Amino acid sequence: MIIVERKSLEALEEMTKDCGRLLVLGCETCSAMCLAGGRRQVAELASAIRMERKMSQNQDEVIEDAIARQCESEFIDHVKDRVAGCDAVLSLACGAGVQTMAHTFPDVLILPAVDTKFIGSEAERGVWKEMCMACGDCVLGRTAGICPVTRCAKGLLNGACGGASEGKCEVGKERPCAWQEIYHALKRLNMLHYLKEKPQVKNWPVHPGKVVREDLREGEATTGD
Ligand code: SF4
Ligand code: SF4
Repeated sequence: MIIVERKSLEALEEMTKDCGRLLVLGCETCSAMCLAGGRRQVAELASAIRMERKMSQNQDEVIEDAIARQCESEFIDHVKDRVAGCDAVLSLACGAGVQTMAHTFPDVLILPAVDTKFIGSEAERGVWKEMCMACGDCVLGRTAGICPVTRCAKGLLNGACGGASEGKCEVGKERPCAWQEIYHALKRLNMLHYLKEKPQVKNWPVHPGKVVREDLREGEATTGD
């Protein structure tokens, strides 16, 4: 999932203080799983902003809602009337959600309430780890499901650098050596020959900024963007 972290309350109060009638809008998928932007966090944030406005005698209303995903128009449609009645939306979605909202509502100010960190997963309660950099040419099939691009501090593709000590990376002792983990995982799977067969030649595609599936586009009009 996309890992996000909410900006400070002070920063959000400053960002929204002059923006008029405000919708605080949560995203019930990744942001909610990060405990940063689901319905409960929306309620807490909206309440704090209302309190701040009351103390500064700002009469502009703050309303709240949450939708399943702000990165998909199908779900955005559910709040289009509420958005139309506001001057600004404080979005607790990732950067993709905020941009999709801004594209959908060009006449409404869309503000980001969270910082988008990376693609990752929860390692333990309150700890999320980066797992993927969306490199565009996945090599996990040859590395026992452990990403060297993301989890090796040097992004090495052809094996360990030799600097690891007691299983820890030489760049930062708090992180495991990804290549030692890959070695042990391949050994467990009887796949150590993967390391010998041929070098990990990787395509580093230039990101085109979009993925097009022609098989899904039959009969679609092209928009040109
Ligand atoms: S190789 Fe790593 S960074 Fe690239 S797509 Fe696979 S998991 Fe993501
Ligand atoms: S010690 Fe391991 S994880 Fe760290 S840079 Fe070297 S190979 Fe990569």
